[in-house]
Amino acid sequence: MLAYTYIDKGKFELWEKPKPVVSDQRDAIVRVTLSSICTSDLHIKHGSVPRTVPGVTVGHEMVGVVEQVGSDVSSVKPGDRVTVVNVETFCGECFFCRHGWVNNCTDPNGGWALGCRIDGGQAEYVRVPYADQGLNKIPDTVTDEQALFVGDILATGYWAAQISKIKQGDTVLIIGAGPTGICTLQCVRLKEPRRIIVCDKDPQRLQFVCDYYPDILTVGPEQVKDLVQAYSDHGGADVVLEVAGGMDTFRMAWECARPNAIVTVVALYNGPQVLPLPEMYGKNLTFKTGGVDGCNCAETLKLIEAGKLDTTSLITHTYPLCKIDEAYALLEGRRDGVIKVAIRMEGEHV
Ligand SMILES: [Zn+2]
Ligand SMILES: [Zn+2]
Repeated sequence: MLAYTYIDKGKFELWEKPKPVVSDQRDAIVRVTLSSICTSDLHIKHGSVPRTVPGVTVGHEMVGVVEQVGSDVSSVKPGDRVTVVNVETFCGECFFCRHGWVNNCTDPNGGWALGCRIDGGQAEYVRVPYADQGLNKIPDTVTDEQALFVGDILATGYWAAQISKIKQGDTVLIIGAGPTGICTLQCVRLKEPRRIIVCDKDPQRLQFVCDYYPDILTVGPEQVKDLVQAYSDHGGADVVLEVAGGMDTFRMAWECARPNAIVTVVALYNGPQVLPLPEMYGKNLTFKTGGVDGCNCAETLKLIEAGKLDTTSLITHTYPLCKIDEAYALLEGRRDGVIKVAIRMEGEHV
């Protein structure tokens, strides 16, 4: 089978590899139908994820059909359409998993394994460990495209909205209108706050928000403080979600928050951030941090089925696996209005 493989810093190649087999009775083998490229894959390519194993197949957002399961797998069976529900592998049994903090799973095989330490899903087949935790059945009326982001960026957005304790009547600021920012926006809308403001430095991304969510206020970084002030009743946003991970966006997040606000940080930064406590003194802020925590995927699939979440508009381009190099080049160059690229497997390569 064909598998997109990390060779060395800066180098991915499409390799012919043997089809994976069940190596633990909790495994499932999934025939991938649709996969996507995540910013984290670009981080791997650029060498900024040192734990990546050379020779590993990349890719950790995917949907497919179960081909085979180990004898201990009970939640899915061959023929089921599934989402691989989490970029993070988790055991479902340790202290953290039992509390729903699956991102902190202490199992030695837990954490970001797929597409980093073990072969991932930019390939025709993938072996998914802990399949009872790692796979969710896709409802019949939900398409592959609709389910594609359930395990990664939509899980991150859902988690961010959930821990932010948003109330009706709140003014919510979301910093970052990239793919994860848009997923966060969709999940925040479900909480029905009074106002949502989205800030990004990229006018094209703000235009995307205006096109698809005309009720949302958009703003660039220069005007964000003034706009938030103008639309807040108590001197700042009631809740701020920082999804951008830029140079100045952490400061922007707490500066735009009103006293006693919740500031949720799900962004991934390239370097340490400064917490200038003297400047914040008296603001009584609550900071929450986290990453993708894919334990609500069954819930998000239900919301997709009910038409309350729909991330298909994020898929701006689709390529067959044989042209995946072109897909990466497009995404890396941020050309042609690209937001997310899907990679279609079935019958496309010749
Ligand atoms: Zn990812
Ligand atoms: Zn665990």
